[in-house]
Amino acid sequence: MAEGPVVGHQWAVKLLQNGIRHDRLRHAYLIEGAAQVGKSTLARSFAQSLLCNESVDGRACGNCRACRLMQSGSHPDFILLPPTDRSGQPDRENGLHRAEQAADVVRQALLHPMEGRYKIFLIQDAHRAHISFANKLLKTLEEPPPHVVLCLTAQDRSALLSTIVSRCQVLALRPLGERIMEDALRARWGAPPQQAALLSRLANGCLGWAVEQIDQPEPLTERSERLAELQELSRSSRVARLAFAQKLATARNQTRLFPLLGLWTSWWRDVMLAQSGCLEQCANIDLLDTLAEAADDFRPGDVQAYLRTLSRIEGYLRHTVNAGLALDVLLLQMPRPYA
Ligand SMILES: [Zn+2]
Repeated sequence: MAEGPVVGHQWAVKLLQNGIRHDRLRHAYLIEGAAQVGKSTLARSFAQSLLCNESVDGRACGNCRACRLMQSGSHPDFILLPPTDRSGQPDRENGLHRAEQAADVVRQALLHPMEGRYKIFLIQDAHRAHISFANKLLKTLEEPPPHVVLCLTAQDRSALLSTIVSRCQVLALRPLGERIMEDALRARWGAPPQQAALLSRLANGCLGWAVEQIDQPEPLTERSERLAELQELSRSSRVARLAFAQKLATARNQTRLFPLLGLWTSWWRDVMLAQSGCLEQCANIDLLDTLAEAADDFRPGDVQAYLRTLSRIEGYLRHTVNAGLALDVLLLQMPRPYA
């Protein structure tokens, strides 16, 4: 039997399949997890199983008309709702879910499905919902027509109204293991072994990110540049560090912020591993020489303290709009070589 499109997350796949098989569907599911961990892929696969005309034990057949429509992204009973910019164009980074779209969901939910038994809405990045959208959506959640299934995705359920979360079955996806990603990158996406090994180390369990990198060497070039920049920063003056913090705090750079902090964390964690003699466990396996040098240049205590600072400040930045001060602290506390 051909494998489904979902890599890993088997407990969630089973749970959803059992729901279909035993006719115990919920009206709403909230799929929670890091960016590109596979939330939308899971939701689409679930939708396909629900809409498939020939499904067996809650699994889609992959061949029927409904499956083909799902695979080509044109099933009329599957409605994808990403956040959008003001003109209505999808914008996953800066867009929002707005009141008009919620009104549309409410209206469409009342209509009967066109092809199958269900009408499925996938509301991506529900944490990017304007409060008026969230309130309107609650109406649908309170009195859902029996044919409606809502799938919401979000990175962090705490950013959603608790009244929405409490009406959903929450599926919290964990980062994927390296092995599972490496195998999938080679077998399904044809990545050469070395690239598959490096990407699965760097992906922090988020397969979607790794898949995106396969055909684009540029982000990895950008990664090398960002890491070179990081090493320069660790040697620069307070003034230069504060100037960098200010640059990072501008609105234009907000979407780059968390990937950058993730990269910094992976780097300093690797330095710590190198200092503990665990070079083989490092994520940045293509930079082992530089890591070995950095291990000698910085005090282990400074590196460990900075890793705690990074984690604390990242958590803070996720819940604040005033990033300036936090970024100043983040830059000023970065360790310096002690030689
Ligand atoms: Zn099918």
